[in-house]
Amino acid sequence: MSSINRYSLPRLAFFAIGLFFLIVSCYKVPITGRKQLNLLPEDELITMADHQYDSLMQVWPQVKAGKDFDNLNTVGGKISRAVEKYLNNHGYEKLSSKFSWEYHLVKIDTVANAWCMPGGKIAFYTGILPITKNKSGMAVVMGHEIAHAVARHGNERMSQALALQMGGIALSVALQTRPEETQRLFMSAFGLGAQVGLILPFSRKHELEADQMGLIFMAMAGYDPRTAVDFWKRMAKMGQGGIPKELTFLSTHPSYEERIAAIENEYLPVAMKYYSGK
Ligand SMILES: [Zn+2]
Repeated sequence: MSSINRYSLPRLAFFAIGLFFLIVSCYKVPITGRKQLNLLPEDELITMADHQYDSLMQVWPQVKAGKDFDNLNTVGGKISRAVEKYLNNHGYEKLSSKFSWEYHLVKIDTVANAWCMPGGKIAFYTGILPITKNKSGMAVVMGHEIAHAVARHGNERMSQALALQMGGIALSVALQTRPEETQRLFMSAFGLGAQVGLILPFSRKHELEADQMGLIFMAMAGYDPRTAVDFWKRMAKMGQGGIPKELTFLSTHPSYEERIAAIENEYLPVAMKYYSGK
C-alpha cells in the first residue's frame, strides 16, 4: 500500500470526518437560505441551555409584574407565534418543535443586553429598556435575538470554539471531562457576557443575518419594521451597546452606520412585504 503514505493518512481521516459532518449536519438557515455546518446535536445544546437558563434565573433578580413585564410577554408571544407559523409553513417543522419559549425580564440596569438561547429561552435586561422605549423597540430586539436562535448561530460558534479549543470533541464528553471550560465556552458562544465579565459578540455575518431575519419576524408579528432604524440610532448614541470601551477592539460587530445602512437599503424593503399594518 504505497500510495497512501503516512502524511496523507491524517488528511484522509480529517476529510472523512468532515464529509461525515457535512452529510449529517448541513443546515439551511430559514429565510436567508445560507448553508451552515453545525457540529453539535441541537438537542444536546438545548438540554445544556435549559439547565444554564434555569440556574441563572434562580439567582438573577427579575421584574415579574408591571408594564414592562406585560409588554415583554406580549411582544415575545406575538413574535414567537409568528416565527413558529413561518417555520411550520416552510419545511422547518422539526426545528420549530424544539422551541419552548420563555421570557424573563432581568433586573440588570447597567448593561443594555438581551439574548435568546437554543430552545427559545429569552432574557431581557432592564438596561436595554431606555433604548427600546416601547413595544416596537422591544420587537426589534426580540426579533433579532430570536433570529440568532432560529439561525442556530450559537451552535455554529460553539462548534467552532469546541473545535479550536478542545480538538472537536463531543459536547457530552467535553461536559464530563472539562465542565468549567465547556460552561465558559457556552456562555460566550451565546453572548451571556455580562455574567462572565467578557463580552464576545456574534460575528459581523451573524449580526447582519439576525438583523435581516429579525425585521421580517417583527413585521410578521404586526410591528412596524421601519422603527428599527430609530432603535439602532438610539443604540448608537448610547455608545457601544453594552460593550465596555476597552473591549471594543475585540468586537467584530458591524458598525452602527453599516448596520443602519444595510437595514434601510437591503432588509427593510423585503421586511415591509411581511408587514400588513401601514
Ligand atoms: Zn446579535
